[in-house]
Amino acid sequence: MAEPAAEAKLEVKQASKEVKESENVAEKYSAMTVSKNSEMNLGELSAAFSAVPTHKPGKKQIQFVEDKQEFSRFPTKAGRRSLSRSISQSSTDSCGSAASYTDSSDDETSPRDKTQVNSKGNSDFCVKNIKQAEFGRREIEIAEQDMSALISLRKRAQSEKPLAGAKIVGCTHITAQTAVLIETLVALGAQCRWTACNIYSTQNEVAAALSETGVAVFAWKGESEDDFWWCIDRCVNNEGWQPNMILDDGGDLTHWMYKKYPNVFKKIRGIVEESVTGVHRLYQLSKAGKLCVPAMNVNDSVTKQKFDNLYCCRESILDGLKRTTDVMFGGKQVVVLGYGEVGKGCCAALKALGSIVSITEIDPICALQACMDGFRVVKLNEVIRQVDVVITCTGNKNVVTRDQLDRMKNGSIVCNMGHSNTEIDVASLRTPELTWERVRSQVDHVIWPDGKRVILLAEGRLLNLSCSTVPTFVLSITATTQALALIELYNAPEGRYKQDVYLLPKKMDEYVASLHLTTFDAHLTELSDDQAKYLGLNKNGPFKPNYYRY
Ligand code: NAD
Repeated sequence: MAEPAAEAKLEVKQASKEVKESENVAEKYSAMTVSKNSEMNLGELSAAFSAVPTHKPGKKQIQFVEDKQEFSRFPTKAGRRSLSRSISQSSTDSCGSAASYTDSSDDETSPRDKTQVNSKGNSDFCVKNIKQAEFGRREIEIAEQDMSALISLRKRAQSEKPLAGAKIVGCTHITAQTAVLIETLVALGAQCRWTACNIYSTQNEVAAALSETGVAVFAWKGESEDDFWWCIDRCVNNEGWQPNMILDDGGDLTHWMYKKYPNVFKKIRGIVEESVTGVHRLYQLSKAGKLCVPAMNVNDSVTKQKFDNLYCCRESILDGLKRTTDVMFGGKQVVVLGYGEVGKGCCAALKALGSIVSITEIDPICALQACMDGFRVVKLNEVIRQVDVVITCTGNKNVVTRDQLDRMKNGSIVCNMGHSNTEIDVASLRTPELTWERVRSQVDHVIWPDGKRVILLAEGRLLNLSCSTVPTFVLSITATTQALALIELYNAPEGRYKQDVYLLPKKMDEYVASLHLTTFDAHLTELSDDQAKYLGLNKNGPFKPNYYRY
């Protein structure tokens, strides 16, 4: 009985230290109530939000038990995921917007060669076709319906304008959901210039809608590698306008500024990074003592990892497979490689539809979890001849080799749900004896000399973002976290954040979750004073120590 209280007391100690450190920002926002459930306002949030540095180059950095947990966990994860990733891997991962109106556009002129103006005469943008703005607006409005928590943050904070004076350069997928985030940042006072983190993922009509409202967007679907860097440069390099915040997904924008504009980079107040890849690059900079700006690692926050990775994939794996292959899931033999968050989501969805699912793992803990969840744990070589579908979710490289592809049966499907296109050894399939036949967009038959066909989806790039859409609600959770991380970094008093990479604190995750509970009319139980004392908790949270795993 003593144990939970002891853990909890450690948390309280840390939380009160944070409150003390961030009193000034707390005062600034103290009038603004933003959540009934948590009874927390932005000030209190900020007070609880003195994030935890996760790496101190050249120093012994461990102060709290929970910091230690986070720190010891990360490098392995990042190291594993980053294997063989090139500097701009994220930019070439296919991530198309299946619902785009503009896929069939037959205007081949490069946007770089066109002069376009919006209805206010402004030409500071470069998109496929500004005339598609109205379609884009409708897409944004649909997205807003399922992003009510972000919209509520926008409404509650817009009179205060916590981002007034912030000049944010962003590099993310440019989709309707990101547009809701960008427009939230603008409503909170920021000026934004935006570019795409992926050459395929821009919804052209959404880019047009943003440009129409005055956000300087430089992005279109199907950019070349050269266009990609040109767009980043145009976004950053604008006479008379110097960015002071970065919102990045993959680290390409951060890298570009660090290399090309070191003097501008030094003056940045903070970087918010969403992806595994980008976070890994920040940690590398930090370890080398070259990170001169505080950065927030959003990727490893609970509300990102447990929702985006698990629930998003649980829903979108089926969508991606159905749209591309019309496969029936019932009775199909499926092997899922990797039983981490993404793998767990895929397995749960496929099992629910009657597929016979086995998994592969390198980690005995994840393997045991799979056993407990009712999945067979196998080596790929043991099942490769029988399976109908192979799905990779490891974040690793070459987990499906040419030799294994050779042994797959006729008509089997192979696809990837991991971030980069390194998981399936697709390059090994580009040999003269194999014939490639395009069946549909993002669907290829690879044909062996004996007539055997394997169906390869999205050329091994991540399936759900390449071939389907992802649930807006999940993106609202990530976007809300990003917005709050930007607010905190921008408003933090001098000295709260050093030149380091920080994890979002538990209270912040709890706050983001509480904002989203309203959608479900969910009613949280409140701790009584007596119960709070018994558990050694603050009644308003945080409710778990940082090392709690959910
Ligand atoms: P994770 O670290 O939780 O899980 C990966 C698992 O793969 C781990 O359990 C690891 O032990 C296992 N693994 C590694 N190498 C292996 C091998 N050779 N064979 C079998 N298993 C192996 O990571 P995650 O959160 O599940 O993310 C996995 C990948 O998916 C990452 O690349 C991530 O960026 C990406 N991701 C994709 C989406 C999407 O929408 N498709 C969403 C979030 C993350």
